[in-house]
Amino acid sequence: MQYAGVLTKMQTEHTNPINYYLVFKSHFIHINQLLDKTITLQFTGYECLGCGQNKKIFRQGYCYDDFYKLPNAGDWIMRPELSKAHLDIEDRDLTYEKKAQLQPHVVYLANSSNIKVGVTRKSQVPTRWIDQGAHEAIEIVEVPNRYLAGITEVALKEHIADKTNWRKMLTNTITNETLEDAKANLKQYIPEEALPYFIENNKETAIHFPVLEYPEKVKSLNLTKTPEYTGKIKGVKGQYLIFEDNTVFNVRNHEGFVVSIKIS
Ligand SMILES: [Zn+2]
Repeated sequence: MQYAGVLTKMQTEHTNPINYYLVFKSHFIHINQLLDKTITLQFTGYECLGCGQNKKIFRQGYCYDDFYKLPNAGDWIMRPELSKAHLDIEDRDLTYEKKAQLQPHVVYLANSSNIKVGVTRKSQVPTRWIDQGAHEAIEIVEVPNRYLAGITEVALKEHIADKTNWRKMLTNTITNETLEDAKANLKQYIPEEALPYFIENNKETAIHFPVLEYPEKVKSLNLTKTPEYTGKIKGVKGQYLIFEDNTVFNVRNHEGFVVSIKIS
C-alpha cells in the first residue's frame, strides 16, 4: 500500500491506548494498525500550510513569509503572556486574535519526563497533553483568556520547569508523580488576577500510549537530511513515531512536508 500527502500533526483520540491518525486530503492512516509493520517514508517536496506553495518550510508548517505574516503564527502563540486582544490591541489581525485569545484557557501541569507547566486552549484538553507525550496531567486554573493563562505560566515557571526532555519521554525514563500535591504547592505563586480561577479538587488524567517497545536511546530522523527512511514501527508517543532501530520521527516538526508512505 502506498499513500502520499502533506504532513500535519497526527490527530488523536483519548482512548486506552491513544488512537493516532495521519490525515491526508482524501484519506487517513490509522497509525496504531501499523505497529510492527515496516514502512518507507520518502520526502518529495514542500506544501506550505499557509500559501500551499512548494516553498521551504521555516517553522510550524509555514514558509518564511507566512510565518511572519499569518495571524496564527504571532509571538503570542508561543508566549501567551504577550496576548493583547483583551485590550483591543492588534498584533496581526485583531478579529482572528479575539477569537483565538478571548476563550477559556487552561494552565496545567503535565508529566512526560518531569513535571512542567503549560498553557492551552480549554478545547485542546487533553489533545495538548497527548501531543506532548505526557503520561499524566492536571489542570491548575481555567481562565477566560489567553493573557491570564500566560501570566500565570510565567509566574509558575519560576518554581517549576516549563520544558520537557523529549529523549527521556521517548525512552520512557519517567516517574509517576502526585500532580495533585504539586498543584497544591504551586497555588501560592498564582498571580492575584488568576487566583479566583483556581480549580479545586480535580484529579489527574492518565494517558496511555500505543508503544510495544521503547528505545534505549534515540536518534532523530530529519527528512531534510535523510529524504528516505525505512523502518519497523514499534510505537507512537507524543507526536513521534518510534522505530525498532531507535530512530524516532517527530511528525509535528515536519508539518508542510510532502511525503509518500509505503507500507510493506
Ligand atoms: Zn507559504
